[in-house]
Amino acid sequence: MSRTLPPLDLHAHIAADIAPGTLEGLGAVVFAVTRSLDEYAEISLRSDTVTVWGLGCHPGLVTAQQGYDVGRFVALLKETAFVGEVGLDGGSRVPLERQMEVLESILSTAAATSRLISVHSYRATKLVLDLIEQTRAESVILHWWLGSESQTKRALELGCLFSVNQSMDPTKLRAAGVPITSLLPETDHPSGNRRGTSPRQPGQTLDVERAVGRVYGVDPAEVRNIFWKTFSTQVNAKGVLTLLPPAVQRMVRFAQTN
Ligand SMILES: [Zn+2]
Repeated sequence: MSRTLPPLDLHAHIAADIAPGTLEGLGAVVFAVTRSLDEYAEISLRSDTVTVWGLGCHPGLVTAQQGYDVGRFVALLKETAFVGEVGLDGGSRVPLERQMEVLESILSTAAATSRLISVHSYRATKLVLDLIEQTRAESVILHWWLGSESQTKRALELGCLFSVNQSMDPTKLRAAGVPITSLLPETDHPSGNRRGTSPRQPGQTLDVERAVGRVYGVDPAEVRNIFWKTFSTQVNAKGVLTLLPPAVQRMVRFAQTN
């Protein structure tokens, strides 16, 4: 392994049938979300070296929300370190009551079986925080967070982290008092990096490192180290190290001694 850690991407959408070599060629550790339990089942036999597939149930997807089953979710959760994409979406065709029922079940499960968890909150930021508070889910990673300043402060009090993409302005997070150690990078490929610098691909979070570095007054190379430290701390706190691919486990250990 090189002495420099690769870029991290905590939230990207990738086709379930992508070739393993293409993922390795990204040169980054990517957390690939799925949108439904069925989609996760499809990828669960893969053994990618630097990609972590999430167990998801997207709030915008009618079939995924209808097909959610807590027993099946709990069974699939045993094998992955990561839950995503889950959450609430105020613009979804899925009735909000159903979305809340599903998210409450997922967050309660994730509170009991500790996992890294990436949560969507588009036009539903307050309701997402209410459910996090109610279920006592810990260190939830709010992905593409657009809450108000007071909601951001509340999210911090609830122990949330924020995964930042190229379409976001880190200035707002800093102004709300979010420390750099509560941030993680994401692309949300292919939506979040639509205006990103090329190559526009999962794992390409160099522009996020630069933007966060600028806003927080930290050198971009140091920003990457901070992201890795934050990530490693989460991995250890959640006890999910051995669920990660061996190469990623080595990087986590390296990040802690770095
Ligand atoms: Zn997404």
